[in-house]
Amino acid sequence: MIYLSRKIYFSAAHLYRKEGWSEEENKRVFGLCSNPNGHGHDYTLEVMVRGHINEESGIVINTTEINKVVKDLIEKEFDSKFLNYEHPYFHERIPTTENMVGYIWGRLEGKLPDCELYKIRLYENSTLYSEKRRNSMVTLARKYHFCSAHRLHSEQLSDEENKTLFGKCNNPYGHGHNYYLEVSVSGEPDEVTGMVINLAELDEIVNKIVIEKFDHKHLNLDTEEFKNLNPTSDNMVKVIWEMLSPHLSGLSKIGLWETEKNYFEYSGPYKAI
Ligand SMILES: [Zn+2]
Ligand SMILES: [Zn+2]
Repeated sequence: MIYLSRKIYFSAAHLYRKEGWSEEENKRVFGLCSNPNGHGHDYTLEVMVRGHINEESGIVINTTEINKVVKDLIEKEFDSKFLNYEHPYFHERIPTTENMVGYIWGRLEGKLPDCELYKIRLYENSTLYSEKRRNSMVTLARKYHFCSAHRLHSEQLSDEENKTLFGKCNNPYGHGHNYYLEVSVSGEPDEVTGMVINLAELDEIVNKIVIEKFDHKHLNLDTEEFKNLNPTSDNMVKVIWEMLSPHLSGLSKIGLWETEKNYFEYSGPYKAI
């Protein structure tokens, strides 16, 4: 099976409010998104399909064909629109990215010839996307940032072995990184709010439990978690999972960029990636 994807860009305005809720309730649940006049985003939509190669043509489906079908939908229904007012589906539902991927999935399913729709990912901006994969629930992924120092050093290895294995990273005083942490939560979007998880609550949990502990700290010296554990990114994704999983029932993945070049991922003790 071959998997291929095509990206499409569009911009749209929206707002998150429930009629009948007080101003305070709307603000509490939807935060800044509750501004009654609305706000907007430049969206990136990624549509991935899968299928078998046609022996004659050497392709599964021409990506321009995917582009034509997806662009047709997006131009007619989403691009340069105010979704709450100009899209009938969102008259009654909040146009969250979770609800948008659900709707787009329904509209594209079965419309692309010679292949099967496999994944739809919709970026609201570079720090937030929702994703739907075939036979799975919707995932919301949110990216966070922190800066920390660390020293890679294992108590179970000799000084010489540590130096050989970790090189410069074994420098006794440590060094530092701009870490980017991606937290993914999966579930069914709430019927009322259209969200898999309340974004303000997710931000509060991740900020309180992880970011405030690690940001502008020396992981080996300032944190309980790495006092006796080598703060490699391999250990960090596992530790962050353990810190967050009691507070996030739908937690499905922890992704960590140690640098732009090095990425680590953990999906919990029972799940394969
Ligand atoms: Zn928004
Ligand atoms: Zn390092």
